[in-house]
Amino acid sequence: MQRLLVATKNSHKTAEIRAILGAGWDVTDLTAHPVIPVPEETGSTFEDNARIKAEAASRVFAGIVLSDDSGLEVDVLGGKPGVHSARYGGVHGDDAANRLRLRRELAALAIPPPWIARFRCAMALARDGKTLAVFDGRVEGCVITDERGTGGFGYDSMFIPDGCTGTFGELPGSVKNRMSHRARALSGAARFLSAV
Ligand code: IMP
Repeated sequence: MQRLLVATKNSHKTAEIRAILGAGWDVTDLTAHPVIPVPEETGSTFEDNARIKAEAASRVFAGIVLSDDSGLEVDVLGGKPGVHSARYGGVHGDDAANRLRLRRELAALAIPPPWIARFRCAMALARDGKTLAVFDGRVEGCVITDERGTGGFGYDSMFIPDGCTGTFGELPGSVKNRMSHRARALSGAARFLSAV
């Protein structure tokens, strides 16, 4: 059994990472380690923030730490919400408020749909306060204003991946976990981890 600490308190991210890695991995997160501090995400890119989170946790935790910094980029909004995805509506982690702001901004556009967008994920692996490697994953698609589906989290009900008719909120979790930005970043990280 390979042990992995994910530097997050977001239970949705942890659940997806656990499901993607499958049996053979013992995945825990910061909810099981309340003494590990959560740093401020001061970076201007997903990669910067992934490094900040992994390095901070690995200064305290004895072992390799994985972080996930992710978000949604909408081209017609100049890449927003981007690195501000988690706090787009004003309160960190308030998914409903984040979607409400995005819905309003899309509805106010003079440019009609389709609105091209992508989910991005940067994952960093760190040990003893130093980043070992960073992995990038992305999934292209478009965003809609009429939310559909109740699965997943965050902006899932507003995002239709290319090649699908349903949103991530409508698709089974197993389908999202085969094609998501998180799955793509994690495949690189898992390969790296099995070699160290
Ligand atoms: P982070 O915690 O700074 O990485 O921000 C992640 C935010 O991006 C989440 O709170 C969601 O709003 C959004 N996000 C990231 N990954 C996903 C996903 O798989 N589905 C839906 N929203 C996501």
